[in-house]
Amino acid sequence: MNHLKEIVAVGSIAFDSITTCKGSRQKILGGSSTYFGVAASLFTKVNLIGVVGEDFSDKEWSLFEKYKIDISSVKVEKGETFSWGGIYSDDFSSRETQFTNLGVFETFKPKIDKQYNDSILYLGNIQPQLQFDVINQIKNPAIVAADSMNLWIDLFPEKVKDLISHVDIFMLNDEEAIQLSGSNDLEKIAKEFLSHGPKIVIIKMGSKGSLVAQKNSINYVSVVQGVDVFDPTGAGDSFAGGLLGYVSINGLSDINKAVAYGSAVASYTVAGFGLESLEKINFEDLKLKADSIDIK
Ligand code: AMP
Repeated sequence: MNHLKEIVAVGSIAFDSITTCKGSRQKILGGSSTYFGVAASLFTKVNLIGVVGEDFSDKEWSLFEKYKIDISSVKVEKGETFSWGGIYSDDFSSRETQFTNLGVFETFKPKIDKQYNDSILYLGNIQPQLQFDVINQIKNPAIVAADSMNLWIDLFPEKVKDLISHVDIFMLNDEEAIQLSGSNDLEKIAKEFLSHGPKIVIIKMGSKGSLVAQKNSINYVSVVQGVDVFDPTGAGDSFAGGLLGYVSINGLSDINKAVAYGSAVASYTVAGFGLESLEKINFEDLKLKADSIDIK
């Protein structure tokens, strides 16, 4: 495979309201695509597909400009930008969604005019039908990766299951994997997901790291130790951004290392509210963090 691929990603661009034991923030910029895009743009060019409402201001657009993220396929529609509110348990191990307002996502139909041949396609957390709408319009992607979330597994379990057989890399967190499969055994679940076609299944286990399953191997990749967590929001999306960013340069030959990069990027995200800590990444330090991560 020729390396240094561009990445094209679909997911949410959102206003988040977040409460953790370290404080709270109202209506800050978030969304799966936003976290993913900032993280992945440290490695390669990122193109986003999505929608925002007319309430999206220059202040928010300037973030994408800062990271040279191509937003020519992000539409502005009449109505409100997607918004989400969540509250975390004191040990950050769980979160409760307080509200999900789909806003302009309710009627969004992605229509992709640009060609993104031979790019890495990332289907971030969003309604599974929208993920399919994007798969169906992107010709010859180099690699397709996808994530999902409890709400979509609750509402459309069969669609999320169907998604597994359309991707090369499928990732979920442990609770979502259990919810989708009905089993409690993560290695069994990963093998079951693999049997539907993906080359790689990654089950994220929060502070316990990630399980990485391929046809003939299961590995465990740990996390950066000793991080003072402020807000876990976006950890999963920035993890995917770091992982696929690494893949965009190095291909799929060392997926465990790619996961270590994802994990290292996420360690920044959780150390501040919203994007505030992710925006301070220094690439040399990121590399040191990724190299310190245990792979077994
Ligand atoms: P993560 O913490 O990585 O799972 O992702 C958190 C981000 O996902 C937040 O910034 C939210 O705006 C966004 N989000 C929350 N719920 C949904 C949903 N149902 N669909 C799409 N994005 C969502």
